[in-house]
Amino acid sequence: MSEIRPRPVFNCQQCGDCCVGRGGIFVRPQEVEEMAALLKMTTEEFCDRYVEVSSQGPRLATANGFCVFLQDNRCRVHPVKPFICRQWPFLPALLVDAEELEQAKGACPGIDPACPHEDFVDAAMGRAEEG
Ligand code: SF4
Ligand code: SF4
Repeated sequence: MSEIRPRPVFNCQQCGDCCVGRGGIFVRPQEVEEMAALLKMTTEEFCDRYVEVSSQGPRLATANGFCVFLQDNRCRVHPVKPFICRQWPFLPALLVDAEELEQAKGACPGIDPACPHEDFVDAAMGRAEEG
């Protein structure tokens, strides 16, 4: 008898909508170093081309309203993309506030619209345990 698996609460549809960079994708020095290494650039070259300074800290540059690394709906720095990108959609704000999750469902077609907040939190905890 085949095992019935629960529907995943999140399954990315690769639409690229979360890479719009509305609030800015903020980056840490180590993330900059890792992305620069992946692209075989020095940190200085990387910062000159891809990082802009904002009042809230350094963030990735945008092109046509999207993150500069979004290409054909794929992330050019996927293996070392910034922590906030790897964390999405399991962000702290969505884990503590069911209303925030409902809003995120409207913005991200990868989140199961029928997923209750409790299941979303459970899935995030499972991911954290997996490391
Ligand atoms: S908005 Fe959601 S479904 Fe679209 S690329 Fe981002 S995570 Fe994936
Ligand atoms: S670094 Fe990659 S995942 Fe993050 S916003 Fe840019 S294109 Fe999207």
